[in-house]
Amino acid sequence: MKLKTVFALLLSLAFYPVLAQRPTPDQIKTNKGNLAVQPVLHGSLVLQWNGKTIYVDPYGGAAAYKGLAAPDLILITDIHQDHLDQKTLDSLDISKATFVVPQAVADQLPESIKSKTIVVKNGGKTEQAGISISAIPMYNLPETADSRHPKGRGNGYILNIGNKNIYLSGDTEDIPEMRALKNIDVAFVTMNLPYTMDVNQAASAVLAFRPKVVYPYHYRGQEGLSDVASFKKQVNEGNKNIDVRLRQWYPAK
Ligand code: ZN
Repeated sequence: MKLKTVFALLLSLAFYPVLAQRPTPDQIKTNKGNLAVQPVLHGSLVLQWNGKTIYVDPYGGAAAYKGLAAPDLILITDIHQDHLDQKTLDSLDISKATFVVPQAVADQLPESIKSKTIVVKNGGKTEQAGISISAIPMYNLPETADSRHPKGRGNGYILNIGNKNIYLSGDTEDIPEMRALKNIDVAFVTMNLPYTMDVNQAASAVLAFRPKVVYPYHYRGQEGLSDVASFKKQVNEGNKNIDVRLRQWYPAK
């Protein structure tokens, strides 16, 4: 075998597990075609709609994104490495991407990215790629200055995409702002200890704001993966109309 062929083979073997295990994207109907939801890793996902590609908290290195379209829009929720992952950003084609981030994230971005960054704070709003993006709080309870996620630093987001409201919780507990949400079509909710909340707390919050569809995401904690099956059971015992979607967010390496 030629050396080049050997390298190509090794390379394909290295990428094979990630590619093989990436789940098929879900399709959500909007008033302007389907919204494709592609779980990537942990708190990271890719949305595609109306010819636009949106990366949320890109993380996990280039291999996790291989074969996916380059982003038009990148949303970042917080400064921690599983959300603001400069190494992954450096490995991606972000040449046409606009970034939407909270100030604390903007402060850490290199100049080359800062120049194409829109800063939105909790309560703020922007419209990008035909999508309205509202930033809402995400934080730990009780509210203390030294908490892992103090209120005001990070952003959860509500995206209005083709008349569907998509909620990305970011790293948060069942804060009143979450419990009071209305008309959420699709929610992504974090549940991992000790960083966000446990599955019981998450189920209780979801039963309060009743999204039509909910994806547990960001559920790898210090003790391993959270029991998302128990989350689903609790939600559906309280409300059988909420579509709880368990997907593969942690592909085997
Ligand atoms: Zn996180």
